[in-house]
Amino acid sequence: MRITALAGGIGGSRFLRGLLRAAPDAEVTVIGNTADDITLHGLHVSPDLDTVMYTLGGGIEESQGWGRAGETFAVAEELGAYGAEAQWFTLGDRDLATHLVRTQMLAAGYPLSAVTEALCDRWQPGVRLIPMTDDRVETHVVVAAGDDDGAERAIHFQEWWVRLHAEVPARRIVLVGADQAKPAPGVLDAIATADVVLLPPSNPVVSIGPILAVPGIRDAVRATKAPKVGLSPIIGGSPVRGMADAALKAIGVPTTAAGVAELFADLLDGWLVDTVDAEATATVEAAGVRCVAVPLWMTGPDTTAAMARAALDLAEEVRAR
Ligand code: GDP
Ligand code: CA
Repeated sequence: MRITALAGGIGGSRFLRGLLRAAPDAEVTVIGNTADDITLHGLHVSPDLDTVMYTLGGGIEESQGWGRAGETFAVAEELGAYGAEAQWFTLGDRDLATHLVRTQMLAAGYPLSAVTEALCDRWQPGVRLIPMTDDRVETHVVVAAGDDDGAERAIHFQEWWVRLHAEVPARRIVLVGADQAKPAPGVLDAIATADVVLLPPSNPVVSIGPILAVPGIRDAVRATKAPKVGLSPIIGGSPVRGMADAALKAIGVPTTAAGVAELFADLLDGWLVDTVDAEATATVEAAGVRCVAVPLWMTGPDTTAAMARAALDLAEEVRAR
């Protein structure tokens, strides 16, 4: 079975780990979000690709769900001593090696998709990981400039998320470069030839949103014959971890399992909500999407594998319709 999944960082990769456990023989392709990418100290950092690569490759710091296990911060301390910005984004020593290799290969002319493949040679994540695009796309967040005159400024997503903890209200979210971007080689094919397309419980606005915003990808997902099934990243009206509610607010979507389903209703065949949101199933089904309530807390490998199994079961159910 060929499964193609769109994924952000932590939520996406934890789910993917469960998926590989639930379907060990499946051929899984992951289309990763690159709109979180940022250049720091001259280095190209791809947080979501790396989280998928480290999580599935056994190199992740489990306690936080991102970054390298056994990390040290000697370089970050030295940079701090120089007062080098951006100090709000700490890069660990081990992690830095990844960014050095990536930046060096990009400078040598390799596209990000080839670089990602090379990095995955080491990590053997057990999936084919492809960035959504080889082109530069960056999520920027428009916030008040601080003065009362209504002036605004756009900041990089990471500055809003990591430095400001998404506490400053986002007026708009802008995907800079998305309209000019092309899907990376293999992306459209992986969607067209899939037996199942999955939307893991990733951030709908800044992880899944940017992937679908690359021209051609949303249409390919809608057009593929494969059943399309998603899992709600919202449980009981709140994001399980992180600040997805702040991002949803910025685009005027309620922080509910049904609200997120509606964002993707044009392309979804099936949607899983948590059992506490069982009453939302009627709303989602009214939008034409088959909806089932199952436990959606990724508390460990078994519960997460069960979620993945439920998603694949739902895909079979809607395929038969
Ligand atoms: P990021 O790029 O690291 O922010 O990760 P993703 O975009 O892939 O996923 C983040 C989202 O995962 C959060 O907004 C949460 O809503 C969701 N999430 C995290 N843990 C869980 C969980 O245990 N269950 C569910 N259903 N969603 C989760
Ligand atoms: Ca991310």
